[in-house]
Amino acid sequence: MFQTPYPSVASLLASETPRQGIKAAGWVRTKRDGKETAFLELNDGSTQGNLQVVIDKTQTPPAEGWDPLLASIGTGASVEVAGSLKESPAAGQKWELSAMSVVLLGAADAETYPLQKKKHSLEFLREIAHLRARTNTFGAVARVRNTLSFATHEYFQKLGFYYVNTPIVTASDAEGAGQMFQVTTLPLDNVPRAGGAVDYTKDFFGKKSHLTVSGQLNGEAYATALGGVYTFGPTFRAENSNTTRHLAEFWMIEPEVSFIDIHGNMDLAEDFLKFVFARVLERNPEEMAFFNQWVEKGVVETLQTVVRKPFARITYSEAVEILTKSGQKFEFPIYWGIDLQSEHERYLTDVVYQGPVIVTGYPKEIKAFYMKLNDDGKTVRAMDVLVPRLGEIIGGSQREEDLVALEQRLGELGMNPEDYRWYLDLRRFGTVVHSGFGLGFERLVQYVTGMGNIRDVIPFPRTAGNADF
Ligand code: ATP
Ligand code: MN
Repeated sequence: MFQTPYPSVASLLASETPRQGIKAAGWVRTKRDGKETAFLELNDGSTQGNLQVVIDKTQTPPAEGWDPLLASIGTGASVEVAGSLKESPAAGQKWELSAMSVVLLGAADAETYPLQKKKHSLEFLREIAHLRARTNTFGAVARVRNTLSFATHEYFQKLGFYYVNTPIVTASDAEGAGQMFQVTTLPLDNVPRAGGAVDYTKDFFGKKSHLTVSGQLNGEAYATALGGVYTFGPTFRAENSNTTRHLAEFWMIEPEVSFIDIHGNMDLAEDFLKFVFARVLERNPEEMAFFNQWVEKGVVETLQTVVRKPFARITYSEAVEILTKSGQKFEFPIYWGIDLQSEHERYLTDVVYQGPVIVTGYPKEIKAFYMKLNDDGKTVRAMDVLVPRLGEIIGGSQREEDLVALEQRLGELGMNPEDYRWYLDLRRFGTVVHSGFGLGFERLVQYVTGMGNIRDVIPFPRTAGNADF
């Protein structure tokens, strides 16, 4: 069976007993070199803490001598250390590695290595995204992101839902809105034309195509065969909005479930969020303590509370009424019919409910064509889950399962039913009540960690004007 060549620092720090004949490897965070003793703080990314390596320079030196070897090991260097795990006399750590030998694997020049011991700004670290995972903050984000990702699969698998992969390249636009990236192999300096227009029959797919903005429509096809499914994949939106919560490339979790209505959909969203929050609290206590101290004070307690308490559930009309009566001055004046802006959402979550809020029953005009129309003929069974600090984290709905109603809606919106033939087939043949939602994975990571900018919760962010690394 495969084994990694070195035990992780996490496993060493969690050791129950002293151990001899240990070999560890990682990157040096700091070095203190004294006359008789030297200390290295070793980090291998497996945990928030470092392994303290203690070198007794009075013991048999390596061939080149301790001082020259230690002089060549600076912050950022990679080393292999052999020795024994001993109880540490220092406060705050149980174990230290008493070194017998130290091997320099890869040097890092102190003059040019960009990560120095001092605190760097997140803006600066974005410019060195290839190295930022070596910092406490980005290591912690990566580990929490991993937990959330694994917990997502755990949650849906436990329910018996199937993980499906929906296409990245698509010729349909799921929302009828969403700014899309075009995919083409046509020569841009000499596009073929038919009449005046671009002749897309000559393009790779024989029609105009794009990167997907959502896997939902395809997800519905599988939900109406397999019952419960979910996607978890990359999504693209060419929105030129320079905000702290929008990326051009992000990951979306989209469950789609047969036989549940908008109420089941809300229950699923709430239960899912609570499950993954609880998993992070359980599996990443050190990372969460770090975020709690350095990034967002109180984030741990907030999550603990959110896991315990039911989410507030209100209708759009109630939300508008609350906002109107609040007497609060908003940049976008509030009235029935407008889409809730971030400032409105945050007033509801941060001020009124001080926790997550699920809003349902939006005016049909501001929501997508596929959402189930309510009996009032004016509102649809849409649902947005809003959270403090961020606003919308989930957007979903009960889907219109009635063929006639769906065709009528397409007509009203001037959309061509021919383009949605296969989608309408799902209603034509064995239609069922079904619902689903889309959760932006990076917004989830942002919420859990308290990180302020979405660019800092994905390894290599893509935004307008930036696709470096
Ligand atoms: P917003 O109003 O916040 O721009 P939206 O209503 O356009 O979002 P949906 O189409 O409902 O978003 O997508 C579902 C979810 O995907 C959102 O609730 C959000 O969590 C996430 N999301 C949407 N756009 C982005 C983006 N550009 N970057 C990161 N996450 C996004
Ligand atoms: Mn939305």
